[in-house]
Amino acid sequence: MVKKTKKKVAKKKTATKKISPDQQAIESLIELIRVTSTVIPNDVNRAIEKAKGVEKPNTTASYAMDIIVDNIGLAKTKSQPLCQDTGTVVFYIYHPPGFHQTPFIKQIHKAVTTATKKGYLRENSVNSLTGENAGTNLGAGHPSIHFVEHSAKTLEVKLMLKGGGCENVSTQYSLPDTGLSAGRDLDGVRKVVLDAVVKAQGKGCGPGVLGVCVGGDRADSHAHAKKQLFRKLGERSKIKELAALEVEIVETCNKLGIGPMGFGGTTTILECLMDHRNRVPASFIVSVSYMCWAFRRQGVVIDTKTMKLKKWLY
Ligand code: SF4
Repeated sequence: MVKKTKKKVAKKKTATKKISPDQQAIESLIELIRVTSTVIPNDVNRAIEKAKGVEKPNTTASYAMDIIVDNIGLAKTKSQPLCQDTGTVVFYIYHPPGFHQTPFIKQIHKAVTTATKKGYLRENSVNSLTGENAGTNLGAGHPSIHFVEHSAKTLEVKLMLKGGGCENVSTQYSLPDTGLSAGRDLDGVRKVVLDAVVKAQGKGCGPGVLGVCVGGDRADSHAHAKKQLFRKLGERSKIKELAALEVEIVETCNKLGIGPMGFGGTTTILECLMDHRNRVPASFIVSVSYMCWAFRRQGVVIDTKTMKLKKWLY
């Protein structure tokens, strides 16, 4: 009888246990990392299913698409990473005025360490000089964390896991490029973006998605190209010339015959998302950020008081 009472008390304690906003923030971030690593976002899934439908049956390209689709299903069911390379961990945090960044960085670090222990992230981040792997995914510049203050009261956290293979085929051009007869205009931009896809030849695990920035300095241009990958697939640029170029690049790329993983076929890329930055007259940089089919990006709205997840963004 005494034992029973003790058990009841213990149960009650567990049921009423509250966690602090600090711990809740870490839990919310771990869940964001888990879902980003294991579940392909809905917009990307739709594009992949559509691409699978257009490949000719019984071709290497259609088998490649079947394997990709099977992989997506298995990763979701087993809550295991979509790919063994869980990539560079890139956070963008959109926060209201007065938000304290330093504690949130600590919470992100704790979440990344725990997510690595749980296997949602591979022990991926190594010291570039010594090759040493701390096993935590923490180190100089990793994870990559960007804070942006916005006027809304909400806290939005976006996460991208950027694979190494597709990062290797991401590239940058300085126009004019005489070898490609690419001048300092949108036709020149078109030529260099197509050149990037031709050079990739399926490396970087196509079918991929291109984020493109026209202009900016070298650093900002590349960062802004990568940021385009946070847009939903199918979301056209608001600038009509760029919107038309996005469509034209997808159509042209998909006539190159490179196809999924470079096996031939009709789906070389799934989408092209472009934007621009001002430049100085002396330079005209074009950056191409290539994302593989294992397109891992997610975002959440977090309640700023409780730090609980309120809404998924993709
Ligand atoms: S490029 Fe993407 S799919 Fe290919 S190995 Fe890297 S993370 Fe995986």
